[in-house]
Amino acid sequence: MIIKPKVRGFVCVTAHPEGCARHVGEQIAFVKAQGALPQKPRNVLVIGSSTGYGLASRIAAAFGASARTFGVFFERPSSKGKPASAGWYNMAAFARAAEAEGLYAGSANGDAFSDEMKAEVIGRIEQEMGPLDLVIYSLAAPRRTDPVDGVTYRSCLKPIGEPYTAQTLDTDRKEVVPVTLDPASEEEIHATVKVMGGEDWQRWIDQLDRAGLLAEGCRTVAYDYVGPEVTWPVYHHGTIGRAKAHLRETARCIDEQLQGKSGKAFISVNKAVVTQASSAIPVVPLYISILFKVMKEEGLHEDCIHQIDRLFREQLYAPGGPQTDGEGCIRMDDREMLPEIQARVKELWPQVTTASVEELTDYAGYQQGFLQLFGFGLEGVDYEAETEPDVCIPGLRNPG
Ligand code: NAD
Repeated sequence: MIIKPKVRGFVCVTAHPEGCARHVGEQIAFVKAQGALPQKPRNVLVIGSSTGYGLASRIAAAFGASARTFGVFFERPSSKGKPASAGWYNMAAFARAAEAEGLYAGSANGDAFSDEMKAEVIGRIEQEMGPLDLVIYSLAAPRRTDPVDGVTYRSCLKPIGEPYTAQTLDTDRKEVVPVTLDPASEEEIHATVKVMGGEDWQRWIDQLDRAGLLAEGCRTVAYDYVGPEVTWPVYHHGTIGRAKAHLRETARCIDEQLQGKSGKAFISVNKAVVTQASSAIPVVPLYISILFKVMKEEGLHEDCIHQIDRLFREQLYAPGGPQTDGEGCIRMDDREMLPEIQARVKELWPQVTTASVEELTDYAGYQQGFLQLFGFGLEGVDYEAETEPDVCIPGLRNPG
């Protein structure tokens, strides 16, 4: 079939297998071009490995460190002639590339929040890999069924305390419009913490630990975002920020738990990038479009793979180990948060209107980045050619 992008609001409901493979290939090539890491994790588990920061983490581990990787993700295979989701095609391309280099790449597709998935993954890691040196926790999910109480919690992206009105960018219509977000109820705050807080990360670590699958010196990392004040009502001080505060508390608990085996838990505060998760957050796409323009002008632009390659190379596996801030976080958002970058963003922010969005922001770059998430707009891919949507992922087994 010939696959074209079908954008519906902040998602694209189609994905291109060759385009996704090309996108993954470019990320692999970038990591390889940086050379081997100074120190290397051998066995790496990435929870949320199919897109965004998790995908970049799996690529950096495999192709920067020749690590054996296991990826957990929740993606849709092709069915009834319809294309699979982008993450499915990404994982297929990743596994083929890893296989071609003789690197183990195990995968499990399904709900990482469930205990069934944890048991399946643990069983396979026991049989196929051995103890882990690194566990990356990179889930971004709209809901979670808690295996303890059986309740399905839904996360939301709302301010806390007061309504918040700001400009946002309707990326599909190229319109800058005001948006008002009502404050979250206590129940909504609680539910967002249940989904995006650290409870499930802790559960993974506990179960891996009990199975004896955390190696001496094991490290685990979860990702956070802070950003500038203009996004705080909807992010850092909103429901998602509350969940991230819980993630930080969890990092401290896991860090203590791992001390016996000289392990460490970290939060890495990453920069804002275009991913399926970030495009769904009100206000953030406008901020990212302005940020990209400013950072590109300064030659400081980074995408997921640049951030994660730098996280591995300059922090996690650098001699002397990671440098953390006062709260114990690795700050990969250092360039985004430079005062001169933020001053320029602040200056542009109130000036951007629908008429000036192309001139004052990197709207084109945002759109290109968004389409590339789904395998569209990549050089060297013939989008007019017939393509086979049904692609298998080598090394994939589903629970059960
Ligand atoms: P993403 O949407 O690209 O990736 C989410 C991943 O989670 C995918 O692999 C998806 O398959 C997986 N997933 C979702 N629900 C799942 C489930 N129930 N079971 C198994 N897998 C599931 O998101 P992202 O933007 O890369 O976000 C990853 C982390 O990075 C999040 O913690 C996010 O807050 C953080 N972060 C993102 C940004 C940004 O700008 N995008 C910035 C800083 C930090």
